[in-house]
Amino acid sequence: MRRATILGATGSIGQNTIDLIARNPQAYDVVALTGAGNIAQLAADAKLLNADLAVTAYDDRLDELRAALAGTGIEAAAGQAALTEAAARPADWVMSAIVGAAGLAPGLAALEQGATLALANKETLVCAGSLVLETAHKHSARLLPVDSEHSAVFQALVGEEIDAVERIVITASGGAFRDWPLAKLKTASLAEASQHPNWDMGQRITIDSASMFNKALEVIETREFFGVDPGKIEVLVHPESLIHAMVGFRDGALMAHVGAPDMRHAIGYALNWPDRKDLPVPRLDLAAVGQLNFSAPDEARYPALRLAREVMERGGLAGAVFNAAKERALDAFIAGRIGFLDMAAVVEHVLAQIDAQPGLIDAAMTLDNVIETDHLTRMCVDRHIS
Ligand code: NDP
Repeated sequence: MRRATILGATGSIGQNTIDLIARNPQAYDVVALTGAGNIAQLAADAKLLNADLAVTAYDDRLDELRAALAGTGIEAAAGQAALTEAAARPADWVMSAIVGAAGLAPGLAALEQGATLALANKETLVCAGSLVLETAHKHSARLLPVDSEHSAVFQALVGEEIDAVERIVITASGGAFRDWPLAKLKTASLAEASQHPNWDMGQRITIDSASMFNKALEVIETREFFGVDPGKIEVLVHPESLIHAMVGFRDGALMAHVGAPDMRHAIGYALNWPDRKDLPVPRLDLAAVGQLNFSAPDEARYPALRLAREVMERGGLAGAVFNAAKERALDAFIAGRIGFLDMAAVVEHVLAQIDAQPGLIDAAMTLDNVIETDHLTRMCVDRHIS
């Protein structure tokens, strides 16, 4: 039996992971499930999978969680420290699917106990890439990608040398506003930004897809995960979302990963790695698809891509600033305080403001420094918006 923990179990990735584990329950000993506000789902899944522990991120929801688990023998806990403790409980495989920078500390705790970390939470690598990789190395822990693009690259690289890679192309659907006239974008509403043309995902990542902040984070994640030069990473708009990524090699070969837009493919690959096992994902009928389309991204429409390149060039803690500014600007958009296009403008302004503070971005990459930088950045966004 493999001991498994799911961080962010109640979210879109978490639920897809539970779907796969619940199809083969005798193979897994579920150590811990974590969530935040969705207590009913958390308790139901903890019972379904007979988990040892269920944790909500919110201290004030502990009584509710306890009540929902009464009589089951499943332990309940709450708060940020409890999340990290859940991740530190001995497990063979940990899914990192908390949304946002909140996933960083639990992810590091999972690596410190030597678990294989299936990484959906891209923010972990964007905020603290070198710290995460060093921690994994130090504790002989393995990091496996779950983002569909990174899983695709990882699969295309099996048996290959990274030195033979000429370029990595990650695809982007173009999000909800791909075909909107540029001038109309400033009027984009929350409801419109929350509809993805191809993928069924959590609200935050769906809005980030419309703005391409999600792709911007993925470009940085690609750089950190595969250690390639930023100049070798390309983004290609591919509205059908069937090719998730391609790897170009020095001999001109271009290896593409093609699959239906169903996250259980990438999750299942990370769950079964290094084996391939049956997965309940739709099989593609390319004759029925008929045609695939590609175009270069328009950086005027998607300024987040330019910002990601600037962040990679800047290095240090610039990724943590970028992510925190993006998260806070997204909060403000969701709350109706700023418009859709304002998000990129806010992030660019705050990046420049934080960079002007001597020593901040160049501070050592420790968990404390990343958390402090994250807090300072969020405050800076709030001041700028108010
Ligand atoms: P969701 O919003 O659907 O789920 C987020 C999860 O995190 C939920 O379990 C939520 O709990 C929990 N959570 C929210 N806030 C906190 C907090 N402050 N502390 C601890 N836990 C918290 O997100 P997704 O599943 O869509 O995405 C999760 C991660 O995976 C993100 O980093 C995203 O970028 C990445 N990803 C997602 C993909 C997708 O298809 N959805 C594809 C590739 C990557 P609750 O629901 O109980 O409030």
